[in-house]
Amino acid sequence: MFRFRIFLALSLLLNIVSLKLIAQTNTEASVKADKLVKEALVKFRESNFEKSLIISRVALNSATSAKNYSLISRSYNIIAANYNELSEVDKAIFFYKKSLYYANKTDNDSIKYNLYNNLGNMYCFEKKQFDKGISYYKKSIAYGLKINDLNQIYFTNVNIAWAYFDIGKFKEGYPYLRFVGNNTEKYGDKTTEIVVNMLNGMYASYSNEDDTANAYFLSAIHAGQDSEEQSDLSFAHLEYSKFLTRKKRYKEAYENLASYNKITEALYNQQKLEKASIAGFNLELDEYKRQIDKIENEKISQSQSLKKSRIIVILFVLISLILLVLIITLIKNIRFKKKHNLELVEAKEIAEEASLLKTQFISTISHELRTPLYGVVGITNMLLEEHKELAQSQHLSSLKFSARYLLSLVNDILQINKIEENKVILENLTFNISDEITMIKNSLSFLSQKNNNKIKVFIDPCIPEYLIGDKLRLAQILMNLVSNALKFTKDGEVEIIVNLNKVEEKFYFLEFHIKDNGVGIAVVDQNKIFEKFVQVGRKEEDYQGTGLGLSIVKRLLGLFGSKINLESNIGEGTSFSFVIPFEHDPQKTKKIIDEIEVDLTSSEVYKILIVEDNLINQLVTKKIIEKNNYVCKVVDDGFGALDIIEKEDFDLILMDINMPLMNGFETSKRIRLKGITTPIVALTAFDKDEITDESISSGINDIIVKPFEPIKLFKIISYLIKETKNVG
Ligand code: ADP
Repeated sequence: MFRFRIFLALSLLLNIVSLKLIAQTNTEASVKADKLVKEALVKFRESNFEKSLIISRVALNSATSAKNYSLISRSYNIIAANYNELSEVDKAIFFYKKSLYYANKTDNDSIKYNLYNNLGNMYCFEKKQFDKGISYYKKSIAYGLKINDLNQIYFTNVNIAWAYFDIGKFKEGYPYLRFVGNNTEKYGDKTTEIVVNMLNGMYASYSNEDDTANAYFLSAIHAGQDSEEQSDLSFAHLEYSKFLTRKKRYKEAYENLASYNKITEALYNQQKLEKASIAGFNLELDEYKRQIDKIENEKISQSQSLKKSRIIVILFVLISLILLVLIITLIKNIRFKKKHNLELVEAKEIAEEASLLKTQFISTISHELRTPLYGVVGITNMLLEEHKELAQSQHLSSLKFSARYLLSLVNDILQINKIEENKVILENLTFNISDEITMIKNSLSFLSQKNNNKIKVFIDPCIPEYLIGDKLRLAQILMNLVSNALKFTKDGEVEIIVNLNKVEEKFYFLEFHIKDNGVGIAVVDQNKIFEKFVQVGRKEEDYQGTGLGLSIVKRLLGLFGSKINLESNIGEGTSFSFVIPFEHDPQKTKKIIDEIEVDLTSSEVYKILIVEDNLINQLVTKKIIEKNNYVCKVVDDGFGALDIIEKEDFDLILMDINMPLMNGFETSKRIRLKGITTPIVALTAFDKDEITDESISSGINDIIVKPFEPIKLFKIISYLIKETKNVG
């Protein structure tokens, strides 16, 4: 059953051999491991397997930390041997193989020899796989020969012989026993004495040499009685019992069997086995721990590489995220810009629409106001013409002036927009400053009387009689400022002062001052009042106003390249001042006056067709035309016009635009379709700019905006008629 004697002998030998190795790897851990291996071996020999296993476990730890393969191998060898003794066959084989694995890492053939021998023992006597076991033995012998250690080969031969004998192959085993027999004197010792005698007894029994056999068995038992090798003795009793049984010496056979059992029992008491198995369990744990450590080491290296790849992945993810954020931001920006652009486009469209609506609204309003005002102005003129005795009437001239002023105001509302859009161009007209101011003074006399104010006028005598400039807009400025002065002054005085500030070549810089001693304007309000629709401290009952006056003044002055100055103190009064350059050119003035006279004194008699739906306007226009010695016919609408031109010839057609049924554009188009080339002048309350394009496409030659200066109309009429006739 057991072959520990042989094992022990080999292990002891191994101890001696290993000293050389330890010297080479003389580390602290190796020395410790070596010491522990020897201790474990001692305990093993004492059959103290528990202690042996514990020590060999510690030895294995030290050997492992010292990375001493030889000592690791030896530690495993002892562990395996302990399990072998404890009948833990599989564990024993496992640890022997482990031991062999580490032994193969060394060049120590003694250890390898030893382990092959032990594995041979395991397979032959424990697993009963004799072929495998014997092949291990043979490998062991090969190593023994290699190291030329016949002493060890001797022991293996004992084992091989025993193996063969166990399976009844006495012939095969006999050569090995013979080798043993030949060398017993040389290599044999007390430890092998029992087994060698027992094997000889077995072979003699097989050879039916009963006496010889009996003698050998008895020698074996005798040797065993003096020996510590109780296990070998037990086998000797067992084999002898088998021999006696065969020889029918049953009583002796039984006695020997009883001895075998007794020794076996004594050897392996239960307590030792239990403790050993606990120790074995601990050892197993350590083994697992080592495996786990190994795995963990692998894990660490794996996790390190994982960490590296993780860092790469994290970096990749981070970069991807950053890229993603950038892309999203970019897309958002593009979208925002698109949206923003869309919003801007929308806002622009809305603004343009609003501006168009505003223009249309102002245009409509001014058209509606202009039409009746045209009548007022026209009828006032007619009254003055027809009733010469009323020419001196202040009321009538005030009415005329007021109507003209009102028209200017309507135009100015239009102008505010135009000025803001830089569409206004100042006109050059000849005027007398004194006449203009007197006109203003007269037209505002009712206001001055209302507040019991006096208007004083001072005009610098150095100012020439005739100046060239936009007198209408100057009048607007002065009207606004003087009427304000009169409104905000009670029982006081309003001064209109015009000084010659300087002369630069043909330009005379006139310095205007409009002063009052009225309520005054608080400093905080002095900037605000020039904004549109701003009124300060207005009381409903006080006066009427739009809050437009000063903003018109400021803008108009801007057109003249001038700025308004304001000095005012609450309760003391207000003074507005500004400087405007006017051209003084006597020759140019004469030419302008001459031109008017030429026009007015036209000797030609032209036949004019007036197309107009408004009866008052028909009357006014007709009067103006006839006054200039022209002949005219009036029709109420476009159809009338188309009708009459079939029958009569005209030198020129004055066409109203805004007519019911068929407007002026449509009528003009139809006239042209008939092949009639008579010049057509649109006479309209619309703003000129608004209808220019459509007028041209309708075949209209020119536009005159109502109300108009008659001179202007006649200039155009005579120019167009002359041109047509020249072409004709
Ligand atoms: P409004 O048409 O209402 O008079 P303006 O633009 O002409 O509007 O004037 C704006 C405001 O400036 C007036 O409401 C008034 O408070 C103040 N103001 C203008 N001129 C005078 C003045 N000469 N004296 C006192 N306050 C004035």
